[in-house]
Amino acid sequence: MEVMSLIIQISYFVTAVLFIMGLKRMSHPTTARSGIVWAGWGMVLATVVTFLHPEIAGNYLLMIIAIVAGGAIAWWTGKRVAMTDMPQMIAIYNGMGGGAAGAIAAVELVKGGDHHTFIVFLAVLGALIGTVSFSGSCVAWAKLQGVMKKVIRFPGQQKVNLIVFGLMVLLGLIITFYPHLGAFWILLFFLLALAFGYMMAVPIGGADMPVIISLFNAFTGLAVAFEGFVLNNPALIIAGTVVGSAGTLLTQLMARAMNRPISNVLFSSFGEGGGPAMEVTGTMKGMEPMDAAVQMCYASRVVIVPGYGLAVAQAQHKVWELAELLEERGVEVKFAIHPVAGRMPGHMNVLLAEAGVPYDKIFDLEEINNEFGSTDVSLVIGANDVVNPVAKTDPNSPIYGMPILNVDESRNVLVIKRGQGAGFSGIENALFFLDNTHMVYGDAQKVTAALIQHVKTL
Ligand code: NDP
Repeated sequence: MEVMSLIIQISYFVTAVLFIMGLKRMSHPTTARSGIVWAGWGMVLATVVTFLHPEIAGNYLLMIIAIVAGGAIAWWTGKRVAMTDMPQMIAIYNGMGGGAAGAIAAVELVKGGDHHTFIVFLAVLGALIGTVSFSGSCVAWAKLQGVMKKVIRFPGQQKVNLIVFGLMVLLGLIITFYPHLGAFWILLFFLLALAFGYMMAVPIGGADMPVIISLFNAFTGLAVAFEGFVLNNPALIIAGTVVGSAGTLLTQLMARAMNRPISNVLFSSFGEGGGPAMEVTGTMKGMEPMDAAVQMCYASRVVIVPGYGLAVAQAQHKVWELAELLEERGVEVKFAIHPVAGRMPGHMNVLLAEAGVPYDKIFDLEEINNEFGSTDVSLVIGANDVVNPVAKTDPNSPIYGMPILNVDESRNVLVIKRGQGAGFSGIENALFFLDNTHMVYGDAQKVTAALIQHVKTL
């Protein structure tokens, strides 16, 4: 038994090392893929070694059924998911992690036993955070999947949230100090936590979704770590802490990139400023790919701004081909990436890396934003919200205050998009109506292919 226990502890330690090394490798695009594999092996080791744990002896059939069922669903959905649907998949899997932590806590709380009050407190805390993350992430999934309205608000919402939160915390404390109250109170506590997660996520919309998804990710990590203490399982504690801290850092980075404190994201959604949004006037002017190609060929500097539409069209390879052709003609080409372009953090970086765009040609918002004034042509491909100047000019706009790429300052703007479709936040884009902007209508991949053909003939 002693030897078995030693094997388990050592394996958990190796698991933790694999998780941490994997995460480290994920921090750079060239090593990210191998980082996922390392962390995956860590997970396999932790799962296999858990079968040796004396406390679970006899439950093997149930465990195998759960692993096979969960593994098969994850494998199938993971294989099928389109790149553009990845954020909702991350949101829902993340929520599942929170739900699992909540379920562990539920079992421990209902089972009762003689846990130290502090351990019961951790179980309750993990249950609360995990369950909130579960229902909140389900809402995030539903919004991104388009099965739920983006923003749901009603008068007095903050007060209702505060009451639900207060009741949930109160009941949590009561359960901590009186753990043998019975299943009814525990069930009520979980229902309140589910309701709070739902209420927390429904009013959040506009451009805030990435921040909230990342926040729930951090929540799930924390919940898992707390349940790790309850089960006395070091692998859960370490994995949960790593996810919790990485998620917290990411949330802070994103909130900072969006120029909003996290409290602001949670308690006053973008655009609550009241008043009707400023009307966008002017006309959109179309341009043929031939003329757009001429404009770029005779420019000395072109900045390409990719957005969600580029991902939908899978135009990244064509875009890089176009950039290379322009460079051959002596045009300086740079790529500008907004922190929330696309539908998940790093979405555009991943796509451009896949197409082989060198990292020294890719610039973050702060690095490039004051260069647009000296840019001849900004080529916006399937991006919308992240280049909308109303974020700077209209206090009533749902995206007011969000930093945008200052594309409007460049001498000429070319926008590739299919038609009049709005961006994620659903609002009109003033950029498209500016005098120096021309729309090159069509699917990003097809238009870019046409641009390539014309550049070749010039
Ligand atoms: P947007 O969603 O604002 O706009 C995308 C544009 O692409 C649309 O206006 C659409 O116009 C166009 N488009 C769609 N398909 C194609 C196609 N095949 N070819 C050409 N164009 C196409 O994208 P942005 O990247 O500018 O902004 C991202 C938004 O998503 C932000 O509001 C952000 O907050 C939000 N978000 C970001 C997340 C993240 O983590 N990055 C997560 C969740 C949300 P049309 O239909 O006319 O073609």
